[in-house]
Amino acid sequence: MTSGRSLDTRAVHAGRDDLVDHGVHAVPIDLSTTYPSRDTAGEAARLDTLATGEQVPGMPIYGRIGNPTVGRFEDALAELEGCEAAVAFASGMAALSACLLAGVAAGKAHVVALRPLYGTSDHLLSAGLLGTTVTWVNTAGEIAGALRPGTAFVIVETPANPTLAEVDLRALAEACGDVPLLVDNTFATPVLQRPAELGASIVLHSATKFLGGHGDVLGGVVACAENHARTLRQIRLATGAVLHPLSGYLLLRGLSTLPVRVRAASATAAELASRLVSHAGVTGVSYPALAANRPARQMTGGGALLSFEVAGDPHAVLGAVRVITPAVSLGSVDSLIQHPGALSHRVVDPADRALGGIGERLLRLSVGLEDVEDLWNDLDQALKAGAG
Ligand SMILES: *Cc1c(COP(=O)(O)O)cnc(C)c1O
Repeated sequence: MTSGRSLDTRAVHAGRDDLVDHGVHAVPIDLSTTYPSRDTAGEAARLDTLATGEQVPGMPIYGRIGNPTVGRFEDALAELEGCEAAVAFASGMAALSACLLAGVAAGKAHVVALRPLYGTSDHLLSAGLLGTTVTWVNTAGEIAGALRPGTAFVIVETPANPTLAEVDLRALAEACGDVPLLVDNTFATPVLQRPAELGASIVLHSATKFLGGHGDVLGGVVACAENHARTLRQIRLATGAVLHPLSGYLLLRGLSTLPVRVRAASATAAELASRLVSHAGVTGVSYPALAANRPARQMTGGGALLSFEVAGDPHAVLGAVRVITPAVSLGSVDSLIQHPGALSHRVVDPADRALGGIGERLLRLSVGLEDVEDLWNDLDQALKAGAG
């Protein structure tokens, strides 16, 4: 019904199709932890089905099994990513944990991972905290050779956090064969890149970032085939890392402005990246649109993140910004800058950080919706302050 509509239209309407019939305009927030019913026998039958991860009509019986407001966000995100289903979690890390636990439960406790990944994702895999083992590779070409019969999935980020390195997803999906490819699409968002259309089977987001977009909600979501979504719902039901209904409401609201926010921030980021290339205080800039040999037609824009190496003291630069906020995280309406080696990727072993291209002079900038000249002036004065 909605498949012919553009992404911008779907971002505004997905998950809200029934509102007119209910006679409301804003999405209702359902804070119930339990759902009363006098038909206990009927509920028993529904519970048997819900316990398998399958969704059934009617209320979800208990708040850990499901929530109508969160369900709207899941439906909308699945639609935007072009997947059958989506399952929301309390954070991006809870979403990744559920994917790993699904592998373990199926007797597949091994994953293949391409560096760099988000620092805590790297740590969760490296430390084997959920009983999984990992084979790390530094180039996409090594992935096919690292696959084993017990490999649950291959995980990549593109563009990667924090180096903005890109991987050709079509080629990679082919190299993975029958092994599912999990793409962390947090940086690109479905506005710029839809991994499922390129062959990925699992698309993961830290919804905390662009999907929420305002720095006020933690969440995670996995878009995938309905079959796999059932396993993830089973795990979420039993382990409890559910998304709060208010967060579901905020994330659904965030989706409606996602295309506009991402394109505006992306245009500003592209302009800042091209100016930084010739700044005396900068020795190197990573921004997808600047890189040579990019995967063809994979992203429809460079995105809102860029990273750069500074000539002077990176910590002094962070201390000097005034418009830009010195803080971890990304994807907010306001610009955020941070030092990956000190913060987002601190948990990664220093040698592995170096291998992944995360140097001590690297800064990562998440561009928001401020005016480009105000951001440029702030960066320029901070870089001069950092030069000492
Ligand atoms: C932040 C982030 C995560 C983790 O998400 P949380 O919501 O903080 O748990 C995972 N992947 C990427 C690329 C991220 O930037």
